[in-house]
Amino acid sequence: MEINETIVKGHILSKGVVFTNKAVNYAIESNAKGQNLVYNAPKNYENGRPQELFIRGLDGYEVVASCVAPNVKEQAVVIDHNGEKLVAIIDNNIIENISLEYVPEPSYYSMKTSKGTPLKRLVSACGLDELNIWPWHDCAISNKCKFCGVNTILHESDSDDLFTSLSISRKPEKWDQFRDYYLEDLTEAVKMAMDDPCYDEHLHLILISGNLTNDQLDLQANIFSDIANTLQKAVGDKATEGVVSVMMPPKDPALLQKMKDSGVDIVVFNLEVAQNPYFEEICPGKAKIGRDFIIERLEQSVEIFGRDKVWCNFVFGLEPIDGLLEMCEYLASKGITPGANILHLDQGSVLKNTPPTVEEIIYFYSKLADLYKKYDLNPYYCQKALRTGLANEAFAGRLAAATVGNQGR
Ligand code: SF4
Repeated sequence: MEINETIVKGHILSKGVVFTNKAVNYAIESNAKGQNLVYNAPKNYENGRPQELFIRGLDGYEVVASCVAPNVKEQAVVIDHNGEKLVAIIDNNIIENISLEYVPEPSYYSMKTSKGTPLKRLVSACGLDELNIWPWHDCAISNKCKFCGVNTILHESDSDDLFTSLSISRKPEKWDQFRDYYLEDLTEAVKMAMDDPCYDEHLHLILISGNLTNDQLDLQANIFSDIANTLQKAVGDKATEGVVSVMMPPKDPALLQKMKDSGVDIVVFNLEVAQNPYFEEICPGKAKIGRDFIIERLEQSVEIFGRDKVWCNFVFGLEPIDGLLEMCEYLASKGITPGANILHLDQGSVLKNTPPTVEEIIYFYSKLADLYKKYDLNPYYCQKALRTGLANEAFAGRLAAATVGNQGR
């Protein structure tokens, strides 16, 4: 198997990554972006551990990989600094035909708005060029998804610059009370963040947070509509996909049109797990909201937002591959774009599953890329934003050399 930058990313996402002391020291010296600690914090992470790596191939094709926690069943990829540069070591072999660098911390991480709010409370960068907007940093769904590393502490905060999912769910009037303050603060934060060089090429604007309580999904759709309206004005056409909104769907179907009219360009209702019994076991809160309900709202949304503007993401590694691919094909045939992040072992996860093997990763993403081409869909964002999957790389043909003669099962 030829090892290129994409296959190295696959090894990292399958096996996890550990850093030598020299590599951690270099991360601190070079101002590498650290773990955001709201979600996706690896289990047992050490201080100074960088969040992401650039991996560049010989022809200049560059990807970003999330520095996921080591997989206990396999020998992790080792990142070392040899005095001159970072190197990756896979199965005791130094990989020669790539170059590595840490994704730097955006300058706005240390800034505050004129109201004194740290920008990191309002926005965050995932991968190289995602600009994530998170109105709250936790999730109040009735039963947490078992793989999820989102904040599990549900604060009853009355702070006006950091909402919590539980406080808004219990006191919906809080949004009306603080909306103007928050939106003004957010607009300033987004404009300051957009100046960072990480968004020079393009920017992916994503409205994402955990969910409100199951009975407040309409309130969440209303809040996200207000925020999207503000974001659209603040960012204009700099965002490649416009405003992407990741959430559980509203109970009231009329709110889908309201979201569209308010400035949401793409809705993302993630099932995370495609088939039962895995869905019910792993995502009990989403199961209470209803698997059929989520699929119905996805299909209804295609009428409003259009083909390839309605997304449904999965966590690859939680169920048999064939059933997952079957669901991906069903959704794709309806104009809904399926996607997948590779399971990683985060703090807060209570699962015993281990991430898929490199061969399974190559097999799955090759099939997913085939589906995109068959149904005229596109992978999400880009290969420098989507740091925990290989959909863009597979779509661009970067797995092709590695899959020759490989059934990947
Ligand atoms: S609904 Fe989303 S944020 Fe909440 S527990 Fe599930 S995956 Fe995590």
